Amino acid sequence: MKISDVRATTVAVPLEAPLRHANGTHWGRFVRTIVEVETDEGLIGLGEMGGGGESAESAIRALKGYLLGHDPLQLEQLYWKICNPTASLYNNRAQLHAAIEFACIDLAGKKLGVRACDLLGGALREEIPFASYLFYRYRDSKTGLGGEEGASEMVRAARDLKRKHGFHSHKLKGGVFSPDHDLEVYLALAAAFPQDSFRLDPNAAWSVEESIRIGRAIEQVRNDYFEDPCWGLEGMRRVRQFVNIPTATNTVVVNFEQLSTCILRDAIDVILLDTTFWGGLRQAWMAGVVCQKFQRGISVHSSGELGIQLATTLHLGATLPNLSFAADAHYHHLLDDVIVGGKMKYVDGKIALPNAAGLGVELDREKVQEYAELFQREGGYAYDRDPRRPGWFAVTPEARFAQPAGSGKQKRVRARKRK
Ligand SMILES: [Mg+2]
Repeated sequence: MKISDVRATTVAVPLEAPLRHANGTHWGRFVRTIVEVETDEGLIGLGEMGGGGESAESAIRALKGYLLGHDPLQLEQLYWKICNPTASLYNNRAQLHAAIEFACIDLAGKKLGVRACDLLGGALREEIPFASYLFYRYRDSKTGLGGEEGASEMVRAARDLKRKHGFHSHKLKGGVFSPDHDLEVYLALAAAFPQDSFRLDPNAAWSVEESIRIGRAIEQVRNDYFEDPCWGLEGMRRVRQFVNIPTATNTVVVNFEQLSTCILRDAIDVILLDTTFWGGLRQAWMAGVVCQKFQRGISVHSSGELGIQLATTLHLGATLPNLSFAADAHYHHLLDDVIVGGKMKYVDGKIALPNAAGLGVELDREKVQEYAELFQREGGYAYDRDPRRPGWFAVTPEARFAQPAGSGKQKRVRARKRK
């Protein structure tokens, strides 16, 4: 089997409401590039990339010279063709490789009549548990949804999600407002759902000392882990010395060099794997195996996903014995998907591993067309900008946190303007 064509189509799929995070905002849609790798046998494999809000169409097409004629079952050769470590100093293609690798794994599975997870040794579980992934959100004028910023609003959002999808684990995406604001919201969530477990992730917005202060203040919560409170392997290692909660990262351990340093320095407890950040399903799986052999827990990070990327997460989660935590996904924030059958369903907080060969999902061509047109109309967005805070950009550690709209300072500003 040989690759005969590579196609890329960028789509924009609406979110319920804009998602706020410590480095900017997802402005109300996810922009993802859908990759189709076609072979001389007529099979089509699917891949996906994105997350930064921009199209990757031209970057994917630029790889055609590397890919035409390649046998998609030769995944190790594919890795070395695209991710040569010296060439990567000039042209880091890890995420592009991931999108192509997903498609080649999909093709290999379809050709052999096995699921993607079977190419990694087979499934240990048929359902993958997920966490609720709670964001501070701007209110969306079209859907009327969102607007969470205080503790009571966040507890209500968590209760809604739990009722709809059955989550037993909750993740608060912090770092937008002050650390004490996050602390108040987090403790309110923990008090509202005493049977559930929790994780706090301010996206490395805090200093080491602030991380220690907040970490100590949440020690009594049933924490899964304390995720990236500050930046850096060494910063995280210092936090770990003073806070009695397992720590976790998806930011400073995203390749094998960093993973080996992390283990040798005993810097961070739990590694959050991401099939895109790590450069593919196989690379993320290999990292999971290293973590298992060194008795490290893993969880699964979400860099934003439609159904194709979600399928890679499901296949990864199915294979790893040390997946000891619910995975993250932004998926339930989406209004729609581009796969046949529409959005995958959560049952009791879990999503079932697809059953068909390969990744097990197929494109709904009408939806792709609809959301490609939406992208043409609305374009990309900057992940690291907040359109409602035009002069602001993130600095680590952050000092210029957003003020809740209902806070005294903003009320006073509004009152002054009225005068
Ligand atoms: Mg994170």
